[in-house]
Amino acid sequence: MGQSIHPDDRAAVGTLVGELRGGVFASDSTRRECVQRLNRERVERWNNIGNCHFPLCRSDAIARSHSLSDKAMIDPIAEKRQVVGPKVNTFEGRYEVGHVPASKASVFPGFCAHHEASFTFEKAGEISCGPELQMQLFRSICRQMFFLEHERDSLSIYRSEMESKLKERIEEAVRAGLTLKTPFDDVLRYSSAELLGLVDLMLNQRTKDLEFTSEQWYEPNARSFGSGLPACMHDELITCPKTLPIVLSGPILMPGTQRGMDGTPDFSGTMYVNLFPNDNGTLIHLVALQARRSELAQLATALESDGAELKSSIEYWLVHCCDHWYMSPSFWGGLAAEIKAEVLEAMNPCV
Ligand SMILES: [Zn+2]
Repeated sequence: MGQSIHPDDRAAVGTLVGELRGGVFASDSTRRECVQRLNRERVERWNNIGNCHFPLCRSDAIARSHSLSDKAMIDPIAEKRQVVGPKVNTFEGRYEVGHVPASKASVFPGFCAHHEASFTFEKAGEISCGPELQMQLFRSICRQMFFLEHERDSLSIYRSEMESKLKERIEEAVRAGLTLKTPFDDVLRYSSAELLGLVDLMLNQRTKDLEFTSEQWYEPNARSFGSGLPACMHDELITCPKTLPIVLSGPILMPGTQRGMDGTPDFSGTMYVNLFPNDNGTLIHLVALQARRSELAQLATALESDGAELKSSIEYWLVHCCDHWYMSPSFWGGLAAEIKAEVLEAMNPCV
C-alpha cells in the first residue's frame, strides 16, 4: 500500500532516492567502511550464544555444536585435518570457498552440553540406523533454523542502518532548502520503501521460511527425537557404491518445485538431504513430507539406477544447498572451473 505523499514531495524525493540508489553514503570510502563493519559483525554474530535448540530447554548452547558429525561425516573426508567449504569473506561480504579446519567445520551454537550428548552416534563415529538418521535430520533442521534467524537478524540490522543513513540524507536536503509538504516521517517511510524494497522482500521470505521450517519440520522431529521419523514424513535411503569425499546437509527444493511470482518457494516441495561417505560408499538420506512421498520415491529410484542423474543431482545440491557442504581439498581442486564458478555465483546472489 502506497504512502500518502504530496505529488511535489514525491517528485523531489524520487530524485533524491534516484541519486541514492547507488548508495546512501556521502562517499565510496564511508560506504565501504560501513559494509565491511556490517559483514564483520554478521560473521561474529554467528558465534553468539543463545538458548539450546531442544524444545523447552533454556540452557545456554555451547559455542561449538557440530551440525555435521565430526567423526562420522567430517573426519572421513578431511586431509591433514582440513576440509574445503563455503565461508564468508568479511572484507567483501561474499561467500568464497576455502580451507576450513575439520574441528571448525559446521559448528554453530546449537545445543547445551546435556543435549549435545544426546547425539549418541558421535561416540561410535558412525550413523548406522533409522533413529540415528532421524537425530541427524533434527540436527540439520536446527542448524537451518539458526541460519534463517541469523540471516533475518542480519537483514534487519542492514535495513535499519540503511534507513538511518537515508534519514540523514533527507535531513541534509531539507537543511539545504528542500521544503516538504508531507510530514517528514511519511516521507521517510515512502523513501525507505522505494530504496529498500528488495531488502523487505528478502526479510519477508526469511520470516516465511522460518515459520514453515518451525511448524513443518522442527516441531514434529523434536517430538519424535531418537525414536525414528515422525509419521508425517517419508524417507528414502540410498547407498551409492562410489565413495565421494563430500558431506552435504540441508533443505533443497525437490525437482519440479516452482517458486511463486514473488520468489516464495512452494514449501511443501522441500526435502532434507544428508549425504556422507561410509564404509560401503556414499550414503544419501532424503526426507520429504508425506504429501510428496511418490515424488521422493521416484527421485530415489532415478538416483539409484542412473549414474548421470546422481552426478547432476549432487552438483545441483552443491549449488542450491548454499552454504552447508564440505569436501576434501583435493576433490574441490579437481572440479571443472565452470562448476566452481556456478557454485560461487549461486552462493552470492546480488543484494
Ligand atoms: Zn538443552
